[in-house]
Amino acid sequence: MGLNLQCLNRSVKSIRRYGKVCRACLNDGYRCKVLVVGGGAGGCSVASRLARRMEPDDIIVLEPSRLHYYQPMFALIAAGIRPSMKSHRPMKSVLPKGVCWVRDQAQEFDPCNNIVITKCGKKIEYDFLLVALGVKNDYDKIPGLRHALNYPYSGVCTIYSDAYSVKTWCCIRNFRGGHAIFTFPKTTGKCPGAAQKIMYLADDYWRQEIKMRSMANITYNTGGPVLFGIEKYAKELHRVVKSRCIAVNYCTDLVALDDGKAVFEDGNGTKISLPYNFLHVTPPMSPPCCLKACQSLVNEAGFLTVDQHTLQHTTFPNVFGVGDCTDTPNSKTAAAVAVQSAVVSRNLLSCIEGKPPQYKYNGYSACPMMTSYNTGIISEFLYDKKICETFPFDQSKEGRLVVYLNKYVFPYLYWNRLLKGKYDGPANIRRLINPLGK
Ligand SMILES: Cc1cc2nc3c(=O)[nH]c(=O)nc-3n(C[C@H](O)[C@H](O)[C@H](O)COP(=O)(O)OP(=O)(O)OC[C@H]3O[C@@H](n4cnc5c(N)ncnc54)[C@H](O)[C@@H]3O)c2cc1C
Repeated sequence: MGLNLQCLNRSVKSIRRYGKVCRACLNDGYRCKVLVVGGGAGGCSVASRLARRMEPDDIIVLEPSRLHYYQPMFALIAAGIRPSMKSHRPMKSVLPKGVCWVRDQAQEFDPCNNIVITKCGKKIEYDFLLVALGVKNDYDKIPGLRHALNYPYSGVCTIYSDAYSVKTWCCIRNFRGGHAIFTFPKTTGKCPGAAQKIMYLADDYWRQEIKMRSMANITYNTGGPVLFGIEKYAKELHRVVKSRCIAVNYCTDLVALDDGKAVFEDGNGTKISLPYNFLHVTPPMSPPCCLKACQSLVNEAGFLTVDQHTLQHTTFPNVFGVGDCTDTPNSKTAAAVAVQSAVVSRNLLSCIEGKPPQYKYNGYSACPMMTSYNTGIISEFLYDKKICETFPFDQSKEGRLVVYLNKYVFPYLYWNRLLKGKYDGPANIRRLINPLGK
């Protein structure tokens, strides 16, 4: 009972403070034309696009967080390139004006009755639903990990959350030699390149700034069979790890932290415990539990099942998905979200008008990976691993451009264009400067 009252007050307060009272506010919940679940990169971008073409108060965004995070910034914070306050802004400042923000979280989906139930027990009825829930970090799937992350002197860190990326920078600065291990899980998550990005930056810092690289052994243990999914870029990354004396072990998955050692399992199930002085963990990730629990919406792994081109749900035509939580076989990045949000908002608007979805997502994704404080490569590709580079030079070769893009251009594009629903990805620029796109 206490919880319900608290929730009710919070919803009322949030509507008073952050938006006009939703005209679709019912006694026990809300009604709207479009419900956007999740106000991250995808949810915000699509809500902004829809708000320009519809009455904004026909749209509800269901999002629990007071802050909106620009997650690619976590890697720059962890490398001491940017301060931690650069990663977030108040959610109210990035949501489009006029849409109704319900500050609560989805608890249960009932797609047969077009209803989402919130954690506070409110019922939201919708005509169309956009699922933009992202993925969560499953720290607890690795016994001992959460405790080690929370303990300040463990040497264990990760860039996959805001708070721990600040700790990562402490661990990098305080490392004084020994074993440094960077891990990558065998399950897919968001921005796979970020796990290597922080390793190259740490290596460069230890080499250039505190000049103790010769006292460190760096190892990259990945649960997967390759260093990078696209051969062209994997080849260059092989050259980079070799030139930096970084050892790479494949099919070596972190399964536990035990007594100050990291326990890995190989492809045959054999376990090996390795001591470490520094451990950067990329946690396993999966969609939020509320989505996984609705079996008619998801695949076995809990990802929303959508048509990989139209992003419309495979069973419920009034449901669409965007971003990391869908089962599309692209690399999960904000770059992919930019292209997807343009496609999905147009298709959603078509469906509202009673027309079939026509626009198609081509699987575009990109990973601008810094390989030192001054260099990096920029991978860009479509479905079926087809290379699709924007610049008229070989982007797999280490160059300086990626540093400026990461530090200045991408944050600008994210906050000022993508979230405002005004960035469709680099296709137009590519057509101008690299029409052959090889
Ligand atoms: C360290 C790191 C580095 C990265 N680097 C890059 C990069 O260089 N380039 C790049 O393109 N991408 C990068 N990414 C990936 C990029 O940030 C994500 O792919 C992108 O944010 C996905 O957008 P999304 O909308 O799917 O999910 P998110 O942006 O994660 O948003 C999901 C939203 O759903 C909300 N939510 C969760 N549960 C609920 C619930 N039950 N009810 C309602 N709302 C809920 C969350 O609060 C959140 O706001 C990086 C990510 C990380 C972590």
